[in-house]
Amino acid sequence: MLGLMQDWPLTVDKFLTHAAQWHGRREVVSRSVEGPIVRTTYAELEQRAKRISNALLAMGVKPGDRVATLAWNSGRHMEAWYAIMGIGAVCHTLNPRLFADQLCYIINHAEDRIIFTDLTFLPVLMEHRHQMPTVETFIVLTDQDHMAKVDLKGALCFETLVETHSPDAKWGGFDENTAAGLCYTSGTTGNPKGVLYSHRSNFLHTLVTAQTDVMGIGSRDVVLPVVPMFHANAWGLTFTCPAIGAKMVMPGPKMDGESILELIETEGVTFSAAVPTVWQMLLQHMRATGAKFSTLKRVVIGGSAVPEAIIRAFHDDYGVEVIHAWGMTETSPLGTQASLTAELAELPYDEQIPYRLKQGRPPAGVQLKLTDDEDKRLPHDGTTFGRLKIKGPFIVGRYFKGDGGEILDEEGFFDTGDVATIDQHGFMQITDRAKDVIKSGGEWISSIEIENIACGHPKAALAAVIGVAHPKWDERPLLLVQLKPGETATRDEFLEFLVGKIAKWWMPDDVQFVSEIPLGATGKIDKKLIRQRMAGYVLPTAEPVG
Ligand code: ADP
Repeated sequence: MLGLMQDWPLTVDKFLTHAAQWHGRREVVSRSVEGPIVRTTYAELEQRAKRISNALLAMGVKPGDRVATLAWNSGRHMEAWYAIMGIGAVCHTLNPRLFADQLCYIINHAEDRIIFTDLTFLPVLMEHRHQMPTVETFIVLTDQDHMAKVDLKGALCFETLVETHSPDAKWGGFDENTAAGLCYTSGTTGNPKGVLYSHRSNFLHTLVTAQTDVMGIGSRDVVLPVVPMFHANAWGLTFTCPAIGAKMVMPGPKMDGESILELIETEGVTFSAAVPTVWQMLLQHMRATGAKFSTLKRVVIGGSAVPEAIIRAFHDDYGVEVIHAWGMTETSPLGTQASLTAELAELPYDEQIPYRLKQGRPPAGVQLKLTDDEDKRLPHDGTTFGRLKIKGPFIVGRYFKGDGGEILDEEGFFDTGDVATIDQHGFMQITDRAKDVIKSGGEWISSIEIENIACGHPKAALAAVIGVAHPKWDERPLLLVQLKPGETATRDEFLEFLVGKIAKWWMPDDVQFVSEIPLGATGKIDKKLIRQRMAGYVLPTAEPVG
């Protein structure tokens, strides 16, 4: 027997329509690419987005067509998103931090017809225009004055389109399983693969992220998504904020400590989300200037593991709660959060830390399991490492155009490529990417754990650990450290710092100081590049191999 409730397709346009009607005066504030701070409201944003929908329809955009954006977080970028998705076209977010060749590969693979772009990215688009045959038009997210300086044949001005089209557009009215967004993984192994979100998957992800134990935000919050809209949908905040009526503060192209702090203080930001490297920069700036937060209460940090030093600095020095979260492009992206259970919240703060450092527990709508290489389930005892697999209504089922073939196991779980443990409290902890785990004498060493501890050394700006070939043990850990500006340190200082904090046999065989630890397109340590750079390196504990 079927239920008798209304058929109300779960399409994301409804979030903005809701915000316009019920939180219409709530602001969306952006630091524009052109420089000034620009203010709009949800009511205006919806009207402007509808005008852009009409512009797209006039250009012949049909349901299912891919329309890309290459842009920083801003109100205009959000208008483009809703304009595209509202009419059933697919919003393809391009990551400007990718190399031009990869960008072109993705644009061609997706067969993008139109690209909305910030002024910032015009040079790269102009240079590679001839490598994007499917692209018919560029829409520049700017006004007429700035447009005058643009030299891209056939490019259109966003503000002109807003002015010349009507706000009467019909949004939604299609199946909730219709594709809404397309985001490519950053392709650390092989070519990038496309994750094609549906309206339904984004809608459900939004309802989940709005929960107290996930983002824990509401209409009175002022939210600063530092995490880019091109990095797994700004972790869903561009849907969650209009859904709950939170004020949004968009950082545009400026994500340095000083610019972020200025926005937090002038706009009264209460909540923010970003990868650890952004927070490290902000904390360094705060220490250097002696600044304090007046309104910030909570930050969600994910994308890579959060070092203890960050959690402690936020809590002890600034009274801000850090929620550690884990996810990936394939999981929409939020998969787990380290929100404490009632039992753990009773513990003294120092005893909570080990749990806050883990990646956390799944909300309703996410199932997790650990398996060995033969797909046999492993115990949740907090020590057994296994492949982390995930299932749920906002988890990838197949990649775009079938790349990678069948990606689910017999029980319908997706293999995340992460290696993890799950403890008795249900807290999952990532010990490594499967490809980064260090295999020493048949046992596994977690590169992430050593990195996080090393990062807590007062002289360290960043730390990375890779496995290096060893004739006896197969691989042994090598610690690379980027020191804070002006610092000097010795190898022994760092090794001594690790004593007692990690198992003896995990102790790195060497420490190398480097001027730069490279970060990839989504702000994570680029281990592939580090391995390339260290290709000729031989551990002092190893006889030269061969
Ligand atoms: P990419 O395309 O770079 O893989 P994603 O953002 O999809 O970009 O990255 C997902 C991966 O990032 C995860 O599989 C995991 O390895 C890592 N990751 C994400 N969040 C965390 C976290 N909190 N701690 C450790 N690793 C994380």
